[in-house]
Amino acid sequence: LLNNDASQAQLADIDVSKLEVIHRKDKKPQPASAGLKFGHTFSDHMLTIPWSVESGWGTPQIRPYGPLELEPSATVLHYAQTIFEGMKAYKDEQGRVTLFRPDMNMRRMNTSAARIALPTFDGNALLELIKKLVHLDKEWIPTLPGYSMYIRPTMIATQKAIGVGPPNEALLFVILCPVGPYYAGGFKPVSLYGTTDYVRAAPGGTGAFKLGVNYAPGILPQKLVGEKGYAQNLWLHGPEHYLTEVGTMNLFVVFEQDNGDWELVTPPLDGMILPGVTRDSVLTLAREHSQGKKLDGLDRKITVTERSVKMSEVKEAAEKNKLIELFGSGTAAIISPVDRIGYMGEDVHIPTGPDGMGPVSGPVLRELVGRQTGTIPSDWSVV
Ligand code: PMP
Repeated sequence: LLNNDASQAQLADIDVSKLEVIHRKDKKPQPASAGLKFGHTFSDHMLTIPWSVESGWGTPQIRPYGPLELEPSATVLHYAQTIFEGMKAYKDEQGRVTLFRPDMNMRRMNTSAARIALPTFDGNALLELIKKLVHLDKEWIPTLPGYSMYIRPTMIATQKAIGVGPPNEALLFVILCPVGPYYAGGFKPVSLYGTTDYVRAAPGGTGAFKLGVNYAPGILPQKLVGEKGYAQNLWLHGPEHYLTEVGTMNLFVVFEQDNGDWELVTPPLDGMILPGVTRDSVLTLAREHSQGKKLDGLDRKITVTERSVKMSEVKEAAEKNKLIELFGSGTAAIISPVDRIGYMGEDVHIPTGPDGMGPVSGPVLRELVGRQTGTIPSDWSVV
């Protein structure tokens, strides 16, 4: 990390004033919002910024969306030197376009870059360029409720020589993807399988960073639980079977305590958990509620804790009717309620409300969506 930072000190950072814009001549036909499949449709333009070890960040370009040209030797293709982010742009009824807490994505992308010796960058400068890209392609942002524009910033090592080391060239690019609700059926609860044969992350590993290398190994376990009839992996850690994450989402559990109050729990950021923007937002809203700034529709007192939770605690709470709900949180699906967990040969059943959402996740989701889409004003929403 030191090496990377020190060598960069003298090099050019991202310079917004150098932006070149090459407009697409033939506008692509836009599909109807209703038919959008998550991650399958891309807007007219993309942003690219090259980097080299000699000169630092080069000329940013907004240009027509299209294939990248890479040498087969490019080290990203061999050693998975790739990182990414996921964030969303929303368009309100007045046509105003907003981003949700984009500063957090810029910070996390820099942490990811540093972890695998890719170049770091001025997050404010990248954010300015992303705003210009989104502005240019703003007619691609769907306006139906639950729809938005998914933004995918990515950075890859493009060094044209095989060899494991910090790359001498890299490319940062950003593509845009109009999306509808993540799950076609709306907020239908999902089933999880408590995975103990495979790990997503381990102490000292890379689970806390958004690296491409964290995702490929999860695909086979995901396929295997699909064959068993479950939707996602519940990643359990260690012989104690600590809950960590759900598929590619952070995880929350609500327990009823002996005094009747509720406890909202999420695993701590111990290096195995991705520090999700949605996780942070859920925690903030729940803490505000517990300090008196009530969430609409939630009358209970709740305590909010970041602590380890074992699968045995969840199972016991379910048996004693003390398990109120369990849900995942992430940018793509926002909140994903869970109704059952396959664990050691049996199913642990989890209560869900008539609309799929639970008594804490429902009010949290409404507040989050309000702040994201601008119907509830907040400084999390950036015009
Ligand atoms: N965990 C993992 C492994 C993820 O890939 C994501 C999606 N970025 C999350 C959690 C949720 O993070 P966020 O709320 O920032 O989307």
